[in-house]
Amino acid sequence: MAQILDGKKLREKILGELKLKVESFTQKPSLVVILVGENPASKIYVNNKKKTAQNLGINSEVINYPSDITEQELLDKIEELNNDKNVTAILVQLPLPEHISKENVINTISPSKDVDGFTPYNFGKLFSGSEPVVYPCTPKGILLLLDEYGIKLEGKHAVIVGRSNIVGRPLSQMLLNRNATVTVCHSRSENLSDIIKTADIVVSAAGKNVIKGEMLKSGCVVVDVGIFKDENGKTRGDVDFETASQVASYISPVPGGVGPMTIASLMLNTVELYVKNSG
Ligand code: NAP
Repeated sequence: MAQILDGKKLREKILGELKLKVESFTQKPSLVVILVGENPASKIYVNNKKKTAQNLGINSEVINYPSDITEQELLDKIEELNNDKNVTAILVQLPLPEHISKENVINTISPSKDVDGFTPYNFGKLFSGSEPVVYPCTPKGILLLLDEYGIKLEGKHAVIVGRSNIVGRPLSQMLLNRNATVTVCHSRSENLSDIIKTADIVVSAAGKNVIKGEMLKSGCVVVDVGIFKDENGKTRGDVDFETASQVASYISPVPGGVGPMTIASLMLNTVELYVKNSG
C-alpha cells in the first residue's frame, strides 16, 4: 500500500514558518489578486488565496472587475500596480473573458512582481535552464512535496500527462533541471499506457480520469494534479486512487495533495518577491 504524499501537512509546516518570517519584516508584503467576472470556482480560489495571505500577515487585496471590462482598462490597472512601490506581487486569476487576451495581460505584469512565474521573462529563464525570479506555483509545490518525502529525481524517468503552461510545461523543465529524464504526454500521445508503464514518477494533470493501477510500474511515485467533479458531483483526481495505491510506493491524494501545495507555493513566492525586491 502506497505512502501518502500529504500536501495538507506540508502546507501547514510551510505556512507556519512563513508566518514567523513575515512577522520579522518591518513592512508587510502585499499580494494583489485581480479577478475578472463572476466565475464561482475562481471566486473560491481567490478568496482562499486572500484568506491564507492575511493569516500570514501579508496584505492582500482582491480587485474584482465586471466581465465587460475592456482589455485596455485591465492593462492600465496592471501598469499602475507595476509602478506602485507598496505592491509586492500581482496575480491575475485565470480564465479571463474571451475578449481579453491572456497573453497581453501576462506580458504586462512586471517580471519582478510576477508571483505565478508566467511572464515570458520568467518562462524564458526557466526554459533556458537558469533561475526565474520565482517558479510557477503548482510545479514548485509538486517538487517541494517530492523533496519532503526524500524522493530521488536524478536519473529517474518522470512521465508528465498534460502540457499546459501552468503545470506540464514548466514542470518538465524543473524536473529536467533536477536531472530527471522527462517525457511529456498529451491528448494526442499514442500508447499512453505503455509510456506510463516505464515511469518511475508519474505526474498527471489532464483533468480527466486517465490513470489506473494496472498502467503503473510497481513501486512508482504518483502525483495527481487533476481536480474535477465526476458524474456524481464527487471531487476527484486523474488517478484511480484505489487501484493505483496498491501498486505505487507513494501517491498524492485528491483533495489534500497538490492543491494545498499550490497555495503554499503562492505564499512562498510572495515572500520571495518581497525579499528580492527589497534588496
Ligand atoms: P489544461 O490546460 O486543460 O491541460 C490539460 C492537458 O491534459 C492538456 O495538455 C491535454 O492535452 C492533456 N490531456 C487531456 N486529456 C488527455 C488524455 N486523455 N490523455 C492524455 N493527455 C490528456 O489543464 P490544466 O490547467 O493543466 O489543469 C489540469 C488539471 O489539473 C485540471 O483538473 C485542473 O483543475 C488541475 N489543476 C490543479 C491544480 C492544483 O493546484 N491542484 C493546479 C492547476 C491545475 P492537449 O494539450 O493535447 O489538449
